Amino acid sequence: MVTKQIVEDGAVEGLRFNFRGDLIRPGEPGYDEARARHNAMFDKRPALIARCTGTADVQAALGFALQAGLPIAIRGGGHSVAGFSSVDDGVVIDLSRMRGVHVDPDAKTVRAQGGALWGDVDRETQVYGLATPGGVVSHTGISGLTLGGGFGILSFKLGLSCDNLVSADVVTADGRVLVASETEHPDLFWGLRGGGGNFGIVTSFEYRLHPVGDVLVSMSMYSPDQGAEMLDFLKGLYVDAPADLAFMGIFLTVPEQPPMPIFPPEILGKKMCAIFAAWIGDPDEGQKAIAPIKAFGKPSFEIALPMPYTMLQTIQDENEPWGSRNYWKSAYLKELSSEAIGVIASRGPTAPAPNSSVLIGRFGGAIAAVGEMDTAFPLRDSGYVVQMDSSWPDPEADDENIAWTRELASALEPHTLDRVYVNFIGDEGSERVEKAYGAERYKRLVALKDAYDPANVFNLNQNIKPSR
Ligand code: FAD
Repeated sequence: MVTKQIVEDGAVEGLRFNFRGDLIRPGEPGYDEARARHNAMFDKRPALIARCTGTADVQAALGFALQAGLPIAIRGGGHSVAGFSSVDDGVVIDLSRMRGVHVDPDAKTVRAQGGALWGDVDRETQVYGLATPGGVVSHTGISGLTLGGGFGILSFKLGLSCDNLVSADVVTADGRVLVASETEHPDLFWGLRGGGGNFGIVTSFEYRLHPVGDVLVSMSMYSPDQGAEMLDFLKGLYVDAPADLAFMGIFLTVPEQPPMPIFPPEILGKKMCAIFAAWIGDPDEGQKAIAPIKAFGKPSFEIALPMPYTMLQTIQDENEPWGSRNYWKSAYLKELSSEAIGVIASRGPTAPAPNSSVLIGRFGGAIAAVGEMDTAFPLRDSGYVVQMDSSWPDPEADDENIAWTRELASALEPHTLDRVYVNFIGDEGSERVEKAYGAERYKRLVALKDAYDPANVFNLNQNIKPSR
């Protein structure tokens, strides 16, 4: 077994001949900044961080780590809730310098490197009035998010991020560089759309683009005692609403010091439940679509205003700061039954930390229009997703926040399906991963793993284990 000592002793100097990016070892300038992750619960100390500038660097770093027999972590945007994008005493193949984005407005496609963030892609594509579905926080990486599926404001109308993937450049475990698309290595392309980082290192993604202009955004907040009624109302709206209307229910705490001075002082710092909606189309037409939301309940606060899509995509950024401690659970429900509503409405307003939230959304619309087995992504049948996101700054509050999240998840469990969105959970073990995909899909993923990564080189992820 080669130890990290060999890296420290200078083997890395050999790699330097064939590497153009930064090679950072413990104690060297920038090491602590380079090993930091969005989720501060994970404080790992890699033996080497290889900050790549392109596919050739990725190949070189992978070859080095394999030869040295060191464990490998892949870092895209660094937002893995499970802490998978770093590793103690191993090699981090870090794509954070690879953030190039190129838009082809005629073909309506964008190609982005594996270290790009959603803010990078949105900014460049909006130059042409175009967009592709991404996440709702602009500092999240495109890589991990797309490979797990990718759910955001545009998804009900335009599908998941992975549904809009046209092709990907992939460095496989044996060092080859492959293009994966519907026509080239289609089996690999199937697995990249929902199977996570199990099959190789994606150095660039090509996505389909769609016209997206200014959007109408609305937020209606209610006292928490209206929570059950609000979820019941949303259930009906999920059935009737047009695909251009994206919306979700949220249990949250109004910030004491909001980034924009829009809230009345009497609700600052208060627990609330809310309906957040965005009309992806002409803002004037959107006023009609959000009218049923405005007519519901007795809001303590409501606002509806048009804004650029890039602004919508950044309004949650400050609630999800780098360096916060995160513990997430997620559940998938076929029905939003009155029992499930009761569990969410009673516990949603009791989160110990102000930055924690419970989100209730739906995986329907364009997501459900894709065939059940057309991609590796397992949640195509219009169920409800309940997202339990605990986030707090102080390590001393770990136990309280983790206990709260676990209690909510276990109270909800009798009403949930086994399947779950792997990007929204921590490291919950291999049985959970198997169940997340369901038996038939998991079997196909294992066959793919056998074909592309039989030695399980890429195992720091929601891991699909090879059969031998
Ligand atoms: P990283 O931590 O860099 O990577 C996560 C894992 O992905 C790695 O361990 C590796 O297994 C794999 N990986 C990363 N890059 C590559 C690559 N280039 N090639 C192969 N494998 C790779 N999800 C949604 O669907 N919608 C959202 O709106 C959303 N919002 C979020 C907001 C926040 C604040 C956070 C923390 C998470 C959010 N997520 C969302 C979940 C998100 O999809 C996952 O956390 C995802 O893994 C983040 O990708 P990343 O590249 O930033 O992560």
